[in-house]
Order: sequence, then structure tokens, then C-alpha cells
Amino acid sequence: MNDAAEGLPGVPPTQPQQPVPPQASGQHLQQSAPQQQAAQAQPQQTSADPALPLQLDPDATTQANTQNERLGDGVNRCPRCGSTEIQLRPQTGMLICMFCRYEWSEQTVEGQIFEEQPLDQLQGTVVGSGAADIDETMTDVVTLKCGGCGSEVVVNVASAMSARCHWCRNILTVNNQVPNGAVPDAVLPFTLTHEQAVEAIREFAGKRRMFAHRKFLREFTPENVVGVYLPYMVVDGNASATVWGQGEVLVRSYTRGSGDDRETFYDADVYQVRRFVDFTVDDLTIESSAERANMDVFVNTNNIINAILPFDTKNAVKWNASYLTGFTSEKRDQNVEAIRPVLEDQLLSIARSEVSPTVSGYNRGVRWEHEQLNVHGTRWVSMYMPVWLYSYYHVEGGRGMVHYIAVNGRTGETMGSVPVSRGRLLAAALTTGTVIEAIVIAFLVATI
Ligand SMILES: [Zn+2]
Ligand SMILES: [Zn+2]
Repeated sequence: MNDAAEGLPGVPPTQPQQPVPPQASGQHLQQSAPQQQAAQAQPQQTSADPALPLQLDPDATTQANTQNERLGDGVNRCPRCGSTEIQLRPQTGMLICMFCRYEWSEQTVEGQIFEEQPLDQLQGTVVGSGAADIDETMTDVVTLKCGGCGSEVVVNVASAMSARCHWCRNILTVNNQVPNGAVPDAVLPFTLTHEQAVEAIREFAGKRRMFAHRKFLREFTPENVVGVYLPYMVVDGNASATVWGQGEVLVRSYTRGSGDDRETFYDADVYQVRRFVDFTVDDLTIESSAERANMDVFVNTNNIINAILPFDTKNAVKWNASYLTGFTSEKRDQNVEAIRPVLEDQLLSIARSEVSPTVSGYNRGVRWEHEQLNVHGTRWVSMYMPVWLYSYYHVEGGRGMVHYIAVNGRTGETMGSVPVSRGRLLAAALTTGTVIEAIVIAFLVATI
């Protein structure tokens, strides 16, 4: 935090820069013309502000190789017996050989992908090779050469990351980072089992049983929950921001008139406020599939998925397609440049919350009017995050809608929506009996 920029250390100075003569009503304060002009003039100072470091060439992108070299291409063998029958055992979060029951784990990626470097010295853009730009000409069909018998096996990475060789029965997995967005830098394996997910969904729906649609309750089969790996970018950043605005301090309040003409007036001083903040962020998670965000029925889901964040990204491991056996996955379709505006939005809101403790002295609040963000450095890792999804297609009044209950595959955090029966809502309101509730709900029913 750097307060030096305009020297208002939490409390307003005794000599306001732009004193405003007390007015009859505080409501007019914000319209005073000289204030507006002053505020608009402020941002022009930025170019000359010595506190802001020069912005680096945004094209200066470097790449860190995250290819799991040990796996090579194709056959992923059990380190003990050599079998290719390998899958994730969620009880332990480790890979297990289905033949000899040996369990092991890929190396965690924390501190492994990028050179050791304090975040506040981060410069330019560094991306993991799994987060590199998607080659638009690449198809989803990947041909693997079987290391067992030499024949060729085709895998469609849109739906699966492994396939069995018809000839020698070995399982082949996509381990090379083909540039189609299907292979991330890292994966956070499921540690919540199917049974635990079913239990979490049952509990979530149970709490909403009172108002849930009868058809939903009748058809409720949480056992149909599906484990999905969703694509995210995990971003570290080094940034600074300047925000400008107006802060108000109440000087006095007084009452005039009597009876019905009684009116309370507030006099306030208005100050130009500027704050500068240097900050770093560690492991911001941003979704990297636009296809999902753009589809109407999924807008709902995105909010639901955001509600089950965060994930313990520090425990993510190196890519190994065997972690996906038995699960589905959704491909990343967004490149770093497309996601950057979302990152900048998040950085700005972090900056605003970073400066808010320093302006608490403005007891009538601060209204931020301008802001400038300088991103000095970022580094990007693409990662698959585990989510259990239960979906239910509900049709009402000829309109269909997909409802979801999502469970964080690590923490068990659960969020979702269930179709509601308006009749049952209304009945509940009438029996529990407050008149206002009944009126509100009657109104709701009438307007739908
Ligand atoms: Zn084995
Ligand atoms: Zn084969």
C-alpha cells in the first residue's frame, strides 16, 4: 500500500483542497460544478506520475514447458507391474493400478512450473505450455500409435482422453499437449467419491423439499450425478492501480422548522481522493470455456459453479490422462488474450477493496470515478477442476429449463437450483400466515 500519492492517510486533512461552502442541503453537494471539473482533470496526471512503473510490452510472452515427459505418448504404465489399467481412486486422490492395486500420484505442480520468483517481481506474460494458444486448425481427433503392438488408435478428445487398443487391449492415453485445448498444464483430481457426491446432493435437495416441484421429487435420482473436469486458468499477477474519486466528511447536521416542515440538513466537506496501490494475486481462478458461458441454459450453471469455488489449486498435479478415466471433461476454448479482460476486471475490484480501509475517515463515503490499472506481470496455468454435476430438465408452461446441483469434487461444497412449485410456496405462506408474505406471493403468481 502506498499512501504517498496524495497524502490522505485514512483521515481527511484539516485543510481541504476544495472546500465546499456549507449548503442548505447535502443533497446538492455532489452537483457542485467546480468539483466535477476537478475530478475530470485528475486522470491526466497519470502519465507524469513517477510512482507508476512503465508498462511492459504486452507481447512479451514466454512459455514454460509443462509436458509430462515421463509419460511420453500413448501408453501410461503402472510403475510396479506395467499394466495400463490405471484410474483415479478418489478415496485417496491417487492413481491406482487395477491389476496389482499399486497406488501412486503425479508430482504436484506448485512451485514446479515457473522459475522461483517473488510475485511482486513478476514481469511480462508467462504461460504454461498447456495454456498456450489453441490452434484453430487442430481437430479433436488424435491418433496414437500403440506402444504395445504398433497399431494406430484414434481418440476423440472432445469426449475422452483414453481408448483401448483393439488388438493388444492396452489402454492408450493422450499425454502429449496437442494444441487443441484438451490437455492442460495440471489437473486437480477428484477426492470426493461418487457416494459422497450423491449424499451431498440428496441433502441439498432435502432441505428444499418443502417447496420443490413434485415431479422433480418423484424423478430425483442423485445416483445419476456425473463427474466432470472443467477447464480453468489459474493466474498469478503483479499489478498496481490508481483510483480517483470524491470523499465526503460530515461537518454537522441540524434541523430547521417544526412540525410537518421539520427538515434535517447535513453539511459536508468534499475532498478529491486519490489512492495508489501495489499488489499481487496468487492463484486467481478464471473459467476458460466460453461455450458454456454463452449458452443461455448454462448461465445459471456458471453462477452455481462460481458458488462452489474455491478449489485448493495448490494441490494440483502434473497432467496424466489416467486421472480422467471414468470422468468426462470439457475442453478449454479460450486463450490467454481472450481471458485477460476478465482478469483485469477482477484485479480492479481487488484494488478497490485494497484501498477501502485507507478511506474510512470519509464518513459519508467515497465515490470512485476513475481508475487505472497497470499489470506488470502475469503467469498462467491451465488446469482441470473436479465438479460433480447433477442435472435435471424441467418443463413448465411449455418452457424447458435445465436445473443443476453442483458439488465441488474436493471440498464437497454444494450449490444448485431445484424447480419450485409455486402452489406449494403459496400454500406455505398462507398457512404460516403473515399477510404480507401472502400478498407478495399472490403478486408473484399474478405476474408470472
Ligand atoms: Zn500394477
Ligand atoms: Zn496395441
